Amino acid sequence: MPQSQGTSNANLLIDLKSIEANWSILKELNAPSSTAAVVKSDAYGLGVNKIIPTLISAGCKTFFVATIEEAIVVRRLIAENKILVLFGINTFEEASTCIEYNLTPVLNHLGQLEIWKKIVSKDDKGIGRPTPKEAWLHLDTGMTRLGFPNEELEAIKTNPELINNLNIGGVMSHLVCSENVNNPINAAQLSRFTKIKLWLESYIKFNAMWSLANSSGVFLGPAYHFDITRPGAALYGINPQPEKKSIMNEVVRLQAKILQVQRVDTNQTVGYGATYKVKKPGRIATIGVGYADGYMRAGSGFAQAYIGDFRIPVVGRISMDLITLDISAVPERYSHVGSIVDLIGPNYSVDSLAKDSGTIGYEILTSLGKRYNRTWEGIGNTVKN
Ligand SMILES: *Cc1c(COP(=O)(O)O)cnc(C)c1O
Repeated sequence: MPQSQGTSNANLLIDLKSIEANWSILKELNAPSSTAAVVKSDAYGLGVNKIIPTLISAGCKTFFVATIEEAIVVRRLIAENKILVLFGINTFEEASTCIEYNLTPVLNHLGQLEIWKKIVSKDDKGIGRPTPKEAWLHLDTGMTRLGFPNEELEAIKTNPELINNLNIGGVMSHLVCSENVNNPINAAQLSRFTKIKLWLESYIKFNAMWSLANSSGVFLGPAYHFDITRPGAALYGINPQPEKKSIMNEVVRLQAKILQVQRVDTNQTVGYGATYKVKKPGRIATIGVGYADGYMRAGSGFAQAYIGDFRIPVVGRISMDLITLDISAVPERYSHVGSIVDLIGPNYSVDSLAKDSGTIGYEILTSLGKRYNRTWEGIGNTVKN
């Protein structure tokens, strides 16, 4: 492994080959439906600049982001592919930006629809290229967040010209409990989405793609796949079926060096608040990663780390820049100043750290610190930031 630059004690390794393999696993499961990739929030914190080329080489053609700013970043990496903006457009300016950069807005409510209608009905003389008029619709089938609520759908039903002259390239909805296979809300949303599909297709002539499933939704079975699925988390190694052993490849490894080792004895305490009391003679290692790096403070007393296959519990409070680990059980030749500790690695996944920190893998990934030396491995040359 080439040495990373920078002064940080922690290295974040992002395995692009695993991301490529994960996309291919999902693609196989989805076939004959297509598989997009959700790359919002800098590809869940892992670096959209590196991940877009990886997904393109895997065969992915459709990308979802949250904001127009994110979409422009992706557009600068790829000329042709479809980029969908989940937040849609809220102003005429945003709508023209979508047209300028050939971005496809996901329209979430009537207000957005009206702005889009006005923009695309205008002649685009002066822009100098064909106007990409495609937009998607997002229907709310239970999230009560973004998407057309029922009464706005009724408005379209009684007034089909609202969408008649638009180029609706896709219609989507988002699942509320897809990671919980047995939750009846899944089937209820599926049934609602299917009903809307039937009546929309009977009222209005359009040739839209339909999309319901996120990562976990893919695993609910083909009935949930429709024309295209929208996985994010599973691409980045988060287990889409939390009740089963993951079939996804781990993507992230977070390693840090031991900064200092102290011998401790009974009655000593470790860290702020003296929350950890030493019960027998042992050794405590300090590492330069803390909650300012997205290593969640709520994991104090619960999170684990590893030196090779030796488990070393995080003891005492996680502080801003430092954590303390009980390394008493690890032979000293493996646990001295400079020894490498896995904070996330083969023995301890993003999901495990998340669970022990009272959160989900999504939050761990999107919080990964700016101070880490990041190295992207695989696909051509290893690259560094
Ligand atoms: C984030 C998001 C996804 C991806 O969800 P994962 O659980 O990460 O696979 C799909 N669709 C929408 C609307 C989203 O906001």
